[in-house]
Amino acid sequence: SSSWVYIKDLKDYLDKKIILKGWMWNKRSSGKIAFLQIRDGYGFVQVIAEKSVLGEDFFNEIKKLKNESSLIIEGTVKKDDRSPVGVEILAEKIEIIHEPNEDYPISNKEHGIDFLMENRHLWLRSRKQFHILRVRNQIIKAIREFYLENDFTLIDTPIFTGSIGESAGNTFEMEYFDYGKVYLAQTGQLYLEAACQSLGKVFNLGPTFRAEKSKTRRHLIEFWMNEAEVAFYEHEDNIKLQNDLVNYIVKSVLENVRDDLEALERDISKLEAVNGEFPRITYTEAVEVLQNQGYNINWGDDLGAEHETKLSSKYDKPLIIEKYPKHAKAFYMQPDPQNPEVVLCDDMLAPEGYGEIIGASERIWKEEVLLKRLEEENLSKDDYQWYLDLRKFGSVPHSGFGLGIERTVAWICGLEHIRETIPFPRTLYRVYP
Ligand code: ATP
Ligand code: MG
Ligand code: MG
Ligand code: MG
Repeated sequence: SSSWVYIKDLKDYLDKKIILKGWMWNKRSSGKIAFLQIRDGYGFVQVIAEKSVLGEDFFNEIKKLKNESSLIIEGTVKKDDRSPVGVEILAEKIEIIHEPNEDYPISNKEHGIDFLMENRHLWLRSRKQFHILRVRNQIIKAIREFYLENDFTLIDTPIFTGSIGESAGNTFEMEYFDYGKVYLAQTGQLYLEAACQSLGKVFNLGPTFRAEKSKTRRHLIEFWMNEAEVAFYEHEDNIKLQNDLVNYIVKSVLENVRDDLEALERDISKLEAVNGEFPRITYTEAVEVLQNQGYNINWGDDLGAEHETKLSSKYDKPLIIEKYPKHAKAFYMQPDPQNPEVVLCDDMLAPEGYGEIIGASERIWKEEVLLKRLEEENLSKDDYQWYLDLRKFGSVPHSGFGLGIERTVAWICGLEHIRETIPFPRTLYRVYP
């Protein structure tokens, strides 16, 4: 008897009988023949249903099938050079598992973004979303592989936290039993800093939460971050690690999901240019470049999205901007011994104007320096007792960074807006579905 085969493997079954299980996303038919467009989670293929094979009554039923009917099809695999998978299926038997009573709301027509977001649970079935989610999966797989191949240990950091890890301005607060106020994690960094003093090289990969109150193309409320932290790593080691990771991710997607990138019409040559050592400029140089171009920016201001786009447009590789003013950055960053007004940090900007994908720094490792920075930023040292302990026992220089998963997916897939890079986006105005 025939075996169940996924569409991606059909080319290995030429002229053989197989079983296909999937959904009909579209069809067209004439008097004697119907062309059913089937997807099965692994690809898209055309199934040919003929009246002479299926019998008149059943053929008429097939001709009336609504889109998104789920089917089990038995048939023969035939070579077809016009098909992206190189084959089509000649149906011999079709079992209708479920047929909708109403027309499927998503058609091949153009839909507005609000309608699509409202129907995200169905929109995920569309071709473009299928390819994006496969690329996202590969990016996450590559990240895990990179760290595990380089002797890092996975540390799952908590979601509830009493210690604010970034700015107090965009936290989600909640009451935690008798303890009182806690926050949803904006980052797992502080916990990775603790873990690196046990395990040397550590990483995490999980959801983070920021109440971003302005609407942009690059900010989600709930987003996934990969963070790494390494004991005894300084600024230069940190930059090399980020560079290696991003090269590894790009190489991995080009090797493993090239077809999906092509289906998304991504300009592959732009990704192929990403290799070797990335260009670097300092924040101070960046401000000069912008001022010379007529931007109204002063030394000390953080770089905004338009600045990032302008600066990175000159390069075909990611751009590393280092040594920002300490007041533009979080409290935990190590001052530069050459100039304590700037910190040993860097942001990595994706090419083609996709913006910041990584935020990184060497961390303050001397207790007295950290206490002074907490005070300057009006953070209570009571909330950071455990974090200060790390500087009391076996303190060492250490460094790390956070890579935004959705920003990386948007860049690699060539998407202008971040909302399609995560299965169920949470944005300023949307938590449904
Ligand atoms: P931005 O300047 O774009 O607001 P950030 O400097 O606040 O980002 P970091 O605290 O450095 O971000 O976080 C590390 C990474 O997490 C960023 O480089 C980015 O890739 C990602 N990231 C930060 N905030 C968001 C968000 N709201 N939605 C999606 N990704 C984000
Ligand atoms: Mg931010
Ligand atoms: Mg930033
Ligand atoms: Mg940052």
